[in-house]
Amino acid sequence: GGREARDRRDLLLPGLHAINDRVGWISEGALDYLCRRLTVPPAEAYGVATFYAMFSVRPRPATVLHVCTDLACTAAGAQDLCAGIEAGLGPGSGVHVERGPCLGLCERAPAALAIRAGDPVRTAVAAPAAVREAVLAASAPDSAPEEPPAETAVPQAGQDGLVLLRRVGAVDPSSLDDYRAHGGYTALREAFALGPAGVIREVTDSGLVGRGGAAFPTGRKWQATASQPDRPHYVVCNADESEPGTFKDRVLMEGDPYALVEAMTIAAYAVGAHRGYLYLRGEYPRATSRMQHAVDQARARGLLGDDILGQGHSFDIEIRRGAGAYVCGEETALFNSIEGYRGEPRSKPPFPVEKGLFGKPTVENNVETLVNVLPILTMGAAAYAAIGTARSTGPKLFCVSGAVERPGVHELPFGATLGELLESAGVRDRLRAVLLGGAAGGFVRPDELDLPLTFEGTREAGTTLGSGVVMAFDDTVPLPRLLLRIAEFFRDESCGQCVPCRVGTVRQEEALRRIAERTGAAAAEDVALLREVGRAMRDASICGLGQTAWNAVESAIDRLGAYE
Ligand code: SF4
Repeated sequence: GGREARDRRDLLLPGLHAINDRVGWISEGALDYLCRRLTVPPAEAYGVATFYAMFSVRPRPATVLHVCTDLACTAAGAQDLCAGIEAGLGPGSGVHVERGPCLGLCERAPAALAIRAGDPVRTAVAAPAAVREAVLAASAPDSAPEEPPAETAVPQAGQDGLVLLRRVGAVDPSSLDDYRAHGGYTALREAFALGPAGVIREVTDSGLVGRGGAAFPTGRKWQATASQPDRPHYVVCNADESEPGTFKDRVLMEGDPYALVEAMTIAAYAVGAHRGYLYLRGEYPRATSRMQHAVDQARARGLLGDDILGQGHSFDIEIRRGAGAYVCGEETALFNSIEGYRGEPRSKPPFPVEKGLFGKPTVENNVETLVNVLPILTMGAAAYAAIGTARSTGPKLFCVSGAVERPGVHELPFGATLGELLESAGVRDRLRAVLLGGAAGGFVRPDELDLPLTFEGTREAGTTLGSGVVMAFDDTVPLPRLLLRIAEFFRDESCGQCVPCRVGTVRQEEALRRIAERTGAAAAEDVALLREVGRAMRDASICGLGQTAWNAVESAIDRLGAYE
């Protein structure tokens, strides 16, 4: 093995996808063939294939129905849905039912996603009433491909004020001309007028920070990458959003795909990159096909490739599909995944701006972060920074799900309160708790709704905004069950590379299971154990997964009094 043999190694993941797409699983023979083509040792390729949840190295039926049993879906009755589907399908149905983590369809909970081998484009996304038809459509060989209704943001009052979502639902996502008619490519022209240093200055002055959860200043990251003498430089867009409860990047990519193409092109121009990778969740087939179409159209029309808009800048985008691994949302794990290795995080330093993808200077940004660059350039940094608060500038997308009337992606300026957001989403009665930031985030109480939705406001209140997840729970869902589900999720998704996380996530789940099964004095002991394990995970884990795996449980104990 070793990285010296990697000339074609980065084609391993696309190769595994190709086999899995065609047959539905990866046989030993197919894997051997791929290994010979790419000169990858079979044992290593096997290690990669088995790393990802969407691949199977054992035979299985051509149609796989992924049923989400994560937080929002569990709260909406996912277990009953699963049992109903299995009973309805019966043996020999040709459909394999797979329970799994968040599909990023939380606004339609309980959600399921059917993927049929041989025709991966023909997928169906289903809410409960439609699941049966969706399964049948996906498994019937001759049925017409049926695209489910486009997923859009929640229509909001004052649509005029929208910045990030203004084109979603208003523009034809397949048409470059329509994108241009809606203001597309004015930001790139502005970028060319400003020059790379001017673009970085605008982005810095705007106060934009990363929207994926880490909130790192984007301008500083771009500057650090641009100034590296080592070449080539890369741009990587992280579209692997898999934090349970997050689906905003999907809505952006499905509804306004050219915006991301344009934004990546601007980032590349600013940092001197000629190649970009868009790493997209494997569970997002529709976003993938729309982004692929947008990239192809942009290339055909001279907006990607050599000499873009006659300005002498060359840049192209390659789309890479993830295959079901939460940890690949961690930037260095994502690089390993693209390079054809197991998606395990690397230790930092070195940081990606110095040694990122293929060991080269890399700027890595989340979809929402990049899309913010367009209004920054068209309206100017000062006008952009006037939105929101002094320390959290700009508009923010919130993924609202759970016990609300209008689940979906809501756009508000930073500084709106949690109560205002829930009000606009139509919060139901008997609110018991709100989970902010997803499984890696924390719970707040119904009497904390005046919490300002800003980085500084949530930090001061001892919680987090994370990637913008806002999940409302009423008293119909037993809290211990939710906590157990969160623990299960982290135990499943831990890559196992470091001990505190590998062992800690198992211990945490065991303790929560014991507590869920009995109560009283016995719980106190387990709560103490949870705190000890949680501290170890937070302090000694290599990456954010282990470091945050105890956050939500801790907040449930301390803020909600979960086991009192
Ligand atoms: Fe892997 Fe967990 Fe360690 Fe991250 S913290 S590297 S997920 S074992």
